[in-house]
Amino acid sequence: MFSAYGRKRQRQKVKNSKVTESMDFSELKRIIEINSWTKNKAGVDRNGEIFSQWLSALGMEPERYHREEIGDHLLIKSASKAEKKLLLLGHLDTVFPPDTFEHFSEDEEWIYGPGVCDMKGGNYVALQALRAIYRRRGEIHDIDFLLVSDEETGSDDSKYLTAELARGYDYCMVFEAAGPHDEVVTARKGVGTFFIDIEGKAAHAGNHYSDGADANLEAAQKLIELVALTDLKRGTTVNVGKVSGGIGANTISPKSHLTFELRYTASEERDRVLAAIDAIVAHSHVPGTHATLSGGIQRDVMQPSQAQERFVSDINRLCHVSLPTEHRGGVSDANVVSSVGTPTLDGWGPFGDGDHTIYERASKESFQKRIDLVTKIFEHFINGEFT
Ligand SMILES: [Zn+2]
Repeated sequence: MFSAYGRKRQRQKVKNSKVTESMDFSELKRIIEINSWTKNKAGVDRNGEIFSQWLSALGMEPERYHREEIGDHLLIKSASKAEKKLLLLGHLDTVFPPDTFEHFSEDEEWIYGPGVCDMKGGNYVALQALRAIYRRRGEIHDIDFLLVSDEETGSDDSKYLTAELARGYDYCMVFEAAGPHDEVVTARKGVGTFFIDIEGKAAHAGNHYSDGADANLEAAQKLIELVALTDLKRGTTVNVGKVSGGIGANTISPKSHLTFELRYTASEERDRVLAAIDAIVAHSHVPGTHATLSGGIQRDVMQPSQAQERFVSDINRLCHVSLPTEHRGGVSDANVVSSVGTPTLDGWGPFGDGDHTIYERASKESFQKRIDLVTKIFEHFINGEFT
């Protein structure tokens, strides 16, 4: 069987054989095999503890943000010497509950396991690059590493800490997985989740039809108005993903609920849609019904900026590369950092696929390439060569 895909992978195998011999993933295996499901505080904390130890060996010092229910967040800091500061960002948690996907394995081209690309593998790229710097220079300064514990459930707790800390940095590199051609991510959509509860008035659908206020009918009108806010050309989507309401066929529905999501690529679009949502909620088509809105923006949009462009061109100039870039629909903590104005690039981890499934894997070749490039970037940064 020779599909186009199969042939491509065979070619890669030949190309990668040298890399395979030189890479040792035993440290990564150790942390991959610690279950770090977001709700497994003990496992997430253990993963964080091991990373802290590895970074402490490079002269960095962990600051712990203790949390009762979820894993602790860690800011692992190097000495502060120069004016410009670089923040590295990763998350410690994975989406896998215990006994769903626990083991590490490898073949010539790939490593497999929970978090190999999302994103223990990415954290490991940053670690290996920091180690390379430490070996060369005997010290690391002005580069700090933030590891949060709840990214996979939306960073509901850490996003406030991340935003607050990020203001103190000139650049941020996020170590989520690279694109298939080693792209870094310059834009991610913003996302919000909302709920509309509609109150109507119940009535017998036969005897007292006109006494009722039909919450389901009101919900249907609102659904159509909400979906109409979608503007695909601008990358804005509104999806009413869940609808519920009513009692039975012979009762005018007294209650109805809509659950919907907004995704957008620009802050003007966010403002346009938020204003329209308020208007839709305030206006009743069915007399006697009343609606309330809850929910909100979870992670704001990551938009390309001039400062980010400068960051990319500095890297290209200093490291003699031509960084490929891409926009992604999905969110990460890069959204949080970039929305406070800190120039941010995401996708510094290895290329991988199958994330959030038991087929998660990461390319060995891309690991080495990422470590080499990130090491160069750190070196130029520490030398004060960024503009
Ligand atoms: Zn993820």
